[in-house]
Formats: sequence, C-alpha cells, structure tokens
Amino acid sequence: MAKIVVLDEHIANQIAAGEVVERPASVVKELVENAVDAGATNIEVTVEEGGLELIRVTDNGAGIAPEDCETAFYRHATSKITSGRDLFQIRSLGFRGEALPSIAAVAKVKLVSSSDDTGLGRQIVIEGGTLKENGETAAPQGTDITVRELFYNTPARLKYMKTIQTELGHISDCLYRQALAHPNIAFTLRHNGNTLLQSPGGGDLLQVIAAIYGVNTSKGMVPIEAEDLDYRITGYIGRPDLARSNRGGMSTIVNGRYIRNQGLHQAILRAYHTLLPINRYPLVVLMLDMHPSLVDVNVHPAKLEVRFSKEPELNGFVESSIRSVLNGLVLIPQVVRQQ
Ligand code: ADP
Ligand code: MG
Repeated sequence: MAKIVVLDEHIANQIAAGEVVERPASVVKELVENAVDAGATNIEVTVEEGGLELIRVTDNGAGIAPEDCETAFYRHATSKITSGRDLFQIRSLGFRGEALPSIAAVAKVKLVSSSDDTGLGRQIVIEGGTLKENGETAAPQGTDITVRELFYNTPARLKYMKTIQTELGHISDCLYRQALAHPNIAFTLRHNGNTLLQSPGGGDLLQVIAAIYGVNTSKGMVPIEAEDLDYRITGYIGRPDLARSNRGGMSTIVNGRYIRNQGLHQAILRAYHTLLPINRYPLVVLMLDMHPSLVDVNVHPAKLEVRFSKEPELNGFVESSIRSVLNGLVLIPQVVRQQ
C-alpha cells in the first residue's frame, strides 16, 4: 500500500512559513523588499507590540493588477523571474514567490492594492491561508498590506518570540539596512505611535547615515569611491575613532541588497587592521555594484547570505580601496603633529 502523499498547498505554505517567517522582523523585511521591488519612493512601516499585534507596510509603488492580487498569494507565484536562466541574473530583491503565501499562512492579512490612478483597487483578506475576501475597493496607486496576529495559529512558534523590545530591535535593524541600501527611498518606521526612523529619500546616503547614527557620527564618515573592471565601490567609511564594540556597523550592500559576508567583513577589518584596538569594529557603509552574474543570491531563503564568484579578487579590491582612503586620512594629522 502506498504511503507517500503530496502535501496540499495549505500545509506546504505552513512549512515554508517556518523558513521564511522566523519572527516579526522577517515579515517586515519581506514586505519592504516587495515595496522596493515595486519601485516605491515612499515606504511607511507601522508596527504595534513589536510587530506581533500588527505590521503595516504602505508603499507608493507600481501596485498589483486586480486580477493578480489573489495569485500573488499562491506559492511560487512571482512577477520577477520567468525562467531558470533568470536565476543567474537577479536584479530584484525577491524572486522566490514565497513571502506572501508564507505570511498569509501564519497570520491575518489584508492587502489593498491599485496599479493605476483610477482610485480603484482590489482588497484581499486571507487568514491562516484561507481566502476570506476578494473585492473591489477605493485605493490610491500602490500597495497597503496589514498583517495582524502573527503566529496566531502556530502557538509553538509564538512561544519562541522574545520581548517586544527585542522584536522591535530586529525590526529597526531591518529598516536601517533597507534605508542604507536605498537612499533614494523615504522610509518611516513607527512603533505604537512613536516615530523611530525617518529617512528623507532623495538619494543622499550621508543623510541616511545621519538619520540612523546621528548627525555627529555622520560628520566622521569619509566618502569612498573606487572602480575596477568588475566592481564599483561607493559609500562612506568611518574614521577609526567611530569604531564600535560590535560588527553591526559594518554594512555591505551588493547591487542594492543588504548582505552579510564573512569574507567582506574580514577584508574591511584587514584594511583597518593597524588603526583599531582589538575587538573594535569600524562603522562602514559600502555599496558594491557588479554584474549580477558575479554574485549568487539564491543561497538562503532570507537572501542575507550571498556567494561571490571571484571572491579573492573582490575582497582584495575592497581592502585596498578602503586602505587607500584611510591612508590619506591618517597621514595628515600625523604630519601636523610632527611640526
Ligand atoms: P516575490 O517577491 O519573491 O516575487 P512575494 O510572495 O513576496 O514573492 O510576492 C509575490 C508577487 O506579488 C510579487 O512578485 C509581486 O508581483 C507582487 N507584490 C507583492 N508585494 C507587492 C508590492 N508591495 N507592490 C507591488 N507588487 C507586489
Ligand atoms: Mg517578495
């Protein structure tokens, strides 16, 4: 007698949710990435009780066509890639088509979206993976998605949530990263009515750094710009005296995606090597641009980890570029002191 069955979509989504939706910040990350991919210039995030009660992301991006709104919640439904070949040339933040069905499997979701300026759009309500409503509604162009009672139907997952403060910390980190990666987009984060982040948009990275780390800190940041055949580096690197006790201030952004990469961190640390005491880490915001074929983002569902195809070359270029900026900086005060 056969014992193997193919799981239905409902269960498959709940299983996928376990990977994609670890905590409220994962929901925020996925929804904000969708807004970025939609070309929004203004993204507002409102959360209540560390995101466990409510997460709302509103954007002024392209919106979703009425006939696509329900499909967007199907598993592996995406408008961002169409063939396997696209996987090696990814320019969007999303492409797996897993976020919306995963989130909707473990929360109560309301989506309002309009893809034109007629003032009309579509409203979808899905709770625990079950469609409750799909109808016409008044809506400006863009997308407004509200996620309530995350993990209400997965008590085991809910039990693992930390304090509101901890969850909120992860959400703020997520917004900081997105704001740094997209200086051209205005981001707002509100928690229980308080504004925690407001980045201006308009494209000035230094203003985003000021919004996150404070104006004084931003004054100690030095621009970096370097280019070789494969890579372009822009951004700001901190004077050594801005060093911090943790690695969280080393931001690396590859083709507009905030990423974590051990090799890049090591390259940055090597460049600062003689300038920092042990266990101090520099404040750095590095934007790396390269052909999408030089970086594989399809390594992990959260897409925070990436793999570079020419890793030693990239790391060497990052190290030498940072060092040459630092050399220019450090030598000048030494000369002055000797006089
Ligand atoms: P992915 O981002 O990997 O494509 P998602 O499940 O996150 O998968 O979203 C599914 C689809 O829904 C997207 O491909 C996109 O077409 C549409 N979508 C989701 N959020 C937005 C948004 N904020 N604005 C416009 N389209 C959206
Ligand atoms: Mg997505």
